[in-house]
Amino acid sequence: MTGLADCNNFFVSCERTLDPSLEGKAVVVLSNNDGCVVARSNEEKRLGIKMGQPAFEIRELVKNREVIALSGNHSLYRDISVRVHDIFRRYAPATIDYSVDEAFLDMDGIPASALPEIGAAIWDSCWRELHIPVTLGFAKTKTLAKIVTEVCKKRAVHAGVLTDENLKWKLLDMTEIRDLWGIGRRLAKKMYQGGVYSIGDFARLDRGHVRKWLGVNGERSWLELHDVNCITLAHIDRRLQDSISETRTFPHDVEDYDYIRARIAIYASYCSQRLRQMGGVCSRATVFLRSNRFHTENGYHAPEMTFRLDAPTDDAVVLVKTCVGLLDRIFSRGIGYKRAGVILSEISDARAVQPSLFNPCPTMREVPEKLMRVIDSLNSGSRSHGTPAMRLASQLTVHHKGYDDGFCISFGSVQP
Ligand SMILES: [Mg+2]
Repeated sequence: MTGLADCNNFFVSCERTLDPSLEGKAVVVLSNNDGCVVARSNEEKRLGIKMGQPAFEIRELVKNREVIALSGNHSLYRDISVRVHDIFRRYAPATIDYSVDEAFLDMDGIPASALPEIGAAIWDSCWRELHIPVTLGFAKTKTLAKIVTEVCKKRAVHAGVLTDENLKWKLLDMTEIRDLWGIGRRLAKKMYQGGVYSIGDFARLDRGHVRKWLGVNGERSWLELHDVNCITLAHIDRRLQDSISETRTFPHDVEDYDYIRARIAIYASYCSQRLRQMGGVCSRATVFLRSNRFHTENGYHAPEMTFRLDAPTDDAVVLVKTCVGLLDRIFSRGIGYKRAGVILSEISDARAVQPSLFNPCPTMREVPEKLMRVIDSLNSGSRSHGTPAMRLASQLTVHHKGYDDGFCISFGSVQP
């Protein structure tokens, strides 16, 4: 059996761990620059607010206090994400982290009769230890587990186990084809036109017909509905994030250029590492600084600059250089900065990169790719324990007492 563990309204649930008064209220989390809605609570969903809806459209609701809108706190979400996945790992022999808030659980060798209890235990741990609600679905394949999880969520059930064949067909018949995992809007339209409306309709088609009509991906989904496990992680089209950001509020106002430069280098390098982990490359890099809103002798400063890269990249060296270059253009001496950050955006799949006209030699990517792989493998695992094993020289900074936000190191601690 395979399980899917999926956190409910993840970003909103994370915010509620910090501020319990948000419980039961309609809450949305906004994207990086507060532009649009990226997460909603159930209460919001009932109000009809959509994912990706521009923030100005809900301004009235926010003003009337019907809705609470929060800026995303992505370092909090990442931190909780790591801990949620740690809990999942405790209960399953093997897990695949699918996204920030979802993991597949390989329950091979565990009898189906034990699964309701295991599901309840996972729910209980996540709620008791982290105050994050999850939903769990168990079935013979990943695709079916996904369907079970969705049904459980709609019915506000913590966990469901699907083994019964009759029940399976009932669920498939009542679920719309566009909700089938891996079916995009385009393919759903094609299916509607072919008279396929529910997942049950699809599963009743002839296998050979499905392969001819929808290709191997369609056939894989069809097989999964017939209890044949055939989607491995390599087949999963992981949804790439739209952007990756790393920002920090400094404990003090900082005027020191060298210190901020090292921070920007660290943030850019860390973003690039996450970019490589998800198999993406980015085309835009943004650096921003914020002065302290409450120390206004010099006025409030919020300079920001974006650079469009010649060719999409995930190379830490290129991204750090680009971001430090941007910092040089926006940094002003004599201003105390309270916050700094890096945003990488326009992210696309690393396997589908269009080489630049001005840098057309594909082998020029090979050396940095190998280098990044080595650095990542040296650093893998060390990140959670604090400082990475290997970093770029531009990330080094003289230790400033009181500025330590977990990244700071002193030259004395650098090993030859
Ligand atoms: Mg979720």
